[in-house]
Amino acid sequence: MSTRIRLTHVTKDYGLAVPAVDDVSLTIEPGEFMTLLGPSGSGKTTTLNLIAGFETLTSGTIAFDDADVSTLPPHKRNLGMLFQNYALFPHMTVAQNVAYPLKERKVSKPDIARRVADVLDLVQLTGRDGHYPSQLSGGQQQRVALARAIVFGPAALLLDEPLGALDRNLRAVLQAEIHRIHQEVGTTFVFVTHDQEEAMNLSDRIALFNNGKIEQVGTPEALYRRPETLFTARFLGDSNVFPLSPSEGKAVWEDSVWAIDAAPTGSPTALVVRPEDLRLAGEAAPGSNSVSATVTAVEYMGSYRTVLLAFGRSGLAGRARLGPEETSIAAGQTVIASWPVARQRLVTTAIPSSV
Ligand code: ADP
Ligand code: MG
Repeated sequence: MSTRIRLTHVTKDYGLAVPAVDDVSLTIEPGEFMTLLGPSGSGKTTTLNLIAGFETLTSGTIAFDDADVSTLPPHKRNLGMLFQNYALFPHMTVAQNVAYPLKERKVSKPDIARRVADVLDLVQLTGRDGHYPSQLSGGQQQRVALARAIVFGPAALLLDEPLGALDRNLRAVLQAEIHRIHQEVGTTFVFVTHDQEEAMNLSDRIALFNNGKIEQVGTPEALYRRPETLFTARFLGDSNVFPLSPSEGKAVWEDSVWAIDAAPTGSPTALVVRPEDLRLAGEAAPGSNSVSATVTAVEYMGSYRTVLLAFGRSGLAGRARLGPEETSIAAGQTVIASWPVARQRLVTTAIPSSV
């Protein structure tokens, strides 16, 4: 099964200075892998708990397909849940843990046996049926929890930082597993993380949260390539950020006047360029925007090198990623940093309410 989840003007107010979730509208398409990404305290878990029914709405509505579920209790929403701590029943075997939601739903014994075997195969735990959770590694326990969360064919699977407790290598393995399982079962996944790399790797789309609001929703590439706000540009990857003076039809920073390729939406307050889009040379590449810079340091990153830069008169800090041909750059040099106009983004400072 896969379900469309629609949040309309959803607000959760705990009576703090700002609502935990503040007028969020978001449609998650059937079968989509949607990630709620954002810093700690930005409202991701609260949003997930509102979808699950663990929290009540202050205002707004939540619908699954065409049914309004806003006041439905959690057990009637038919959702699978996966958390950071696996929350397995310690006194039950792997098979009993996974069978539990099927027993609750009064599935027949032969059906339970078949579905448990199928799902243990899916999470690659065949042969572990009789083990107890304490006999399994952290990664295996999380696979059992995942099997238990999907075995009954939930309308959607909600995952709240499920890999947060695992070390880096295991996290990468389970990330790939979650991706594969999403592809195989085709259920709607709503995945919460504060890790931008994890979000970029896994998601069909990302909803980026900041202060209880969504800054931007889009594919990983759209958020990286076409950020609309400074927050989005800074949260996903490195950026060079030039604060702009107000001007029509061009971008002005210090003595530089730069071409813009399209009329910006809203009133842009900064120009953003990614480090990999800067080229460093004695002169500007034709058709590019450029600025003078001093090289303050060269950092070796293993497979590539990064240059730390001080731009213009004020020495605004920035960085460039060197191409393999740019071998002669050294600290202390003065260079021209240039970038294709199409690679820059004009962004607004923030969505109005969080200024
Ligand atoms: P995230 O998952 O993005 O880290 P949360 O949704 O957990 O953020 O929290 C969002 C905001 O709501 C935070 O300021 C948090 O302190 C507050 N909050 C969350 N749950 C409660 C609660 N039960 N009571 C009061 N405040 C809460
Ligand atoms: Mg959280």
